[in-house]
Amino acid sequence: MNCLFCKIIAGEIKSTKAYEDSKVLAFQDLNPIAPVHILIVPKMHIASADYLDAASSQIVGDIFLVASKLAEKLNLNGYRIINNCGEDGGQSVPHIHFHLLGGKRLNWEPL
Ligand code: AMP
Ligand code: ZN
Repeated sequence: MNCLFCKIIAGEIKSTKAYEDSKVLAFQDLNPIAPVHILIVPKMHIASADYLDAASSQIVGDIFLVASKLAEKLNLNGYRIINNCGEDGGQSVPHIHFHLLGGKRLNWEPL
């Protein structure tokens, strides 16, 4: 499959791993926007949140558990989990992924 994150999962493209189990891989984002910026992805290819169904959506809970474990391991004083979906959401890689951001006070600006 011609998918960047599937290639990272398969080990065909290098990444710096932060966590791995049979269902989930977490690795450092190549262009971090915070001191901690880890991508957490299901090993199963799901293009975006729009493609989740009742069975595959279980993985979202698994990913949140991984995020909270990583945050604890990294001693984060709070963190943010972001999923960009679709064009206006800013999704650039069509394999569902969650950004774990932390290590600084994150902005939250009203419109
Ligand atoms: P999104 O814009 O939400 O689709 O997020 C895609 C993320 O993937 C961006 O934050 C990129 O910096 C990151 N990224 C792209 N290529 C790689 C790569 N080879 N290894 C790690 N992160 C990557
Ligand atoms: Zn994929």
